[in-house]
Amino acid sequence: MGVVTRLPDSLGLLSNSFSVLNALTSPVWIFDIDESRIYWANPPALDIWNAESLTALQDRDMAADMSHAVTRRLQQYQQDFERNQARFTEIWTLYPKGVAKTFKVFFSGIRLEDGRVAMLCEVESEYRGDPETLRSVEALLHTNTMISLYSPDGDVLYQNPAARASFPLNLIPYPYGFAAQEDYLRLKSTMDLHGFCQQTALMMTNHGKRWHEISARVCHDPVTGEQAILVSELDVSDLKMAEGKASYLAEHDILTGLPNRNYVLQHFEKQLQVLLSHGQEAALIFIDLDHFKQVNDSLGHTVGDMLLVQMASRLTDLMNPGDMLARLGGDEFVVLSTARHIETHAKSLCETLLERLSDPLVVSGSLIHPTLSIGVSLAPKDAKDINHLMRNADLAMYRAKDEGRNRYAFFTRDLTEAIQSRHVLENELKHALVNDQFEVFFQPRINAKNGCITGAEALVRWRHPERGIIAPGVFITLCEDCGIIDQLDMFVLHEAIRYQKIWLSQGWHLKISVNLSPRQFANPELAEDICAMFTELSANPADFELEITESALLGNDHKTIQMLTRLQDSGFSIAIDDFGTGYSNLAYLRRYPIDCMKIDKSFVQKLDEFEAITGLIVALAKVMNLKIVVEGVETEAQLAWLKEQGCHEYQGYLFSPPVPPELFASYRDRQEFRSMDRTE
Ligand code: C2E
Ligand code: CA
Ligand code: CA
Repeated sequence: MGVVTRLPDSLGLLSNSFSVLNALTSPVWIFDIDESRIYWANPPALDIWNAESLTALQDRDMAADMSHAVTRRLQQYQQDFERNQARFTEIWTLYPKGVAKTFKVFFSGIRLEDGRVAMLCEVESEYRGDPETLRSVEALLHTNTMISLYSPDGDVLYQNPAARASFPLNLIPYPYGFAAQEDYLRLKSTMDLHGFCQQTALMMTNHGKRWHEISARVCHDPVTGEQAILVSELDVSDLKMAEGKASYLAEHDILTGLPNRNYVLQHFEKQLQVLLSHGQEAALIFIDLDHFKQVNDSLGHTVGDMLLVQMASRLTDLMNPGDMLARLGGDEFVVLSTARHIETHAKSLCETLLERLSDPLVVSGSLIHPTLSIGVSLAPKDAKDINHLMRNADLAMYRAKDEGRNRYAFFTRDLTEAIQSRHVLENELKHALVNDQFEVFFQPRINAKNGCITGAEALVRWRHPERGIIAPGVFITLCEDCGIIDQLDMFVLHEAIRYQKIWLSQGWHLKISVNLSPRQFANPELAEDICAMFTELSANPADFELEITESALLGNDHKTIQMLTRLQDSGFSIAIDDFGTGYSNLAYLRRYPIDCMKIDKSFVQKLDEFEAITGLIVALAKVMNLKIVVEGVETEAQLAWLKEQGCHEYQGYLFSPPVPPELFASYRDRQEFRSMDRTE
């Protein structure tokens, strides 16, 4: 055993040598905090520790029955000894010879020869109290609750170990332990008024700033009988943090970090009322991603989630100061915006959203060209509270969807009527089939190299008895929804066959393409039905192309491939229509039996913006050996571009819009070159 030094001399009651300590009649021992072992003890201490010899006592692992709280407290003591020359007394119950005895133990720091600080423990006296007191003393010693007794001036009269571990020794917790002075003042004034107080406050402690739940009451110091304040404190920081997190989570969406529906109902409402009370106007804008479900179903939820995150970040970038943005759930977002000329402002915001949110993007190997449908309702014109505004904006959004998606619509009072008129239209549609109100128009498809018509796309028109010719954008979705799309498409196919044969009989050999609705792929008999019609009409499938959209490919993978293979084996060409407008997994595309890719008109019409991505699509189609058709060609410049890219064919107003068959027939003479052979 080497030399030990009592920490600093000012504290020293005894000399540095063990012989002196040894000679003391009172039990003294040194506890090595780092090792959780007794480092040294004098004979009376061996007695109260019930040890046969010093070595036996030194061999005892004291950590074995030490709680985590005690270990932490001891470490705190160690720091206090070193920094603050601390010394204090505790009442301890030990078991010499197996019998419980209670002692008043005096603790102070002592430096071991290797420089570490240990704890010198000296038993001052045996403590004789009634069992009740002893037990409460024991409880005070071990509880996590910090218990302190203060004089009315804030001087510390007593601190239990938990309190001592918490507050820096040289700091009077009341008032200096408060992180915010007003918390202390609040506590003090309540105490002055009622004599007790309960509050939560942020305290400066040895463990940093912590939330304490404080309960204080005026009492008397049992020793002096003078007035004192008894304070008990519990560290509730973890609880507080969990609460804070819970309330954040309750109002935010974890995926995008945007506020959620709860937030909208609370805070959008508040903001709206503030605006209205200042005579300002506001717009509630409801944004819904078109066909989002297909992304999730076919490309997987991870891609879906990534898309939503991208959309959220694009939206955030487009917000003006003061705008509020939230995600309502799924693919629905909502914006509350205010401006002086609200209607003009809302329109221009919607246009920006449609424009900027629909830029194509590649998400883990999938090309996504998102489109949106937007509904707008205005306050105070359409409604004066968030709930009604949301309902109206939602209705307007459905109108935008009905009108063909990728657009915005404003709420109007007649919208409820419009929904009724939709039913009227649905009814009229059913009659239209029976009453032969549908017609097929043809739009020429031109060989990019030689300018010849190689074929035509059959596009349906509805000749409404009162409204005249109606374009399919208005009614195709309705036909899909009310289940008559199969009959309609079969009618178009029938007409296409009829005209193809007429023109062939006149020596004009054309390949006609027809559109198939994605809904038809739900019909397992689709391939059989089509083949049966061709057999019945003795038509040649090789003269026809079936156009399907990417979304049709997104359904039941295996069955779709089977059905398309069956059709291709029968001689039909398969074209993928509107390529790049939906959600396509470029890697999966190869799995489908496809002959032709029709690049959507939005690409060629915004060439300066999308040139790179359009080039990428062309390159992809070439790798896959597909015939490339560019749709929506309106200008010579666009034509020059597609020729340069080596695209094979094009369609568009530059040559002709879709026209009735009689007019189309007249184009035969309009050709610059007579198409001798379409196989090139
Ligand atoms: P789609 O298959 O992409 O057809 C091309 C659409 O683009 C046609 O609109 C056509 O009129 C239009 N178009 C052609 N050239 C140009 C151009 O240079 N510039 C512009 N801006 N547009 C051009 P349409 O006929 O209104 O058809 C709209 C959509 O309705 C079609 O898009 C197709 O998805 C669907 N559809 C049309 N007929 C049928 C049908 O018989 N069955 C099914 N299932 N869907 C059909
Ligand atoms: Ca088409
Ligand atoms: Ca198309």
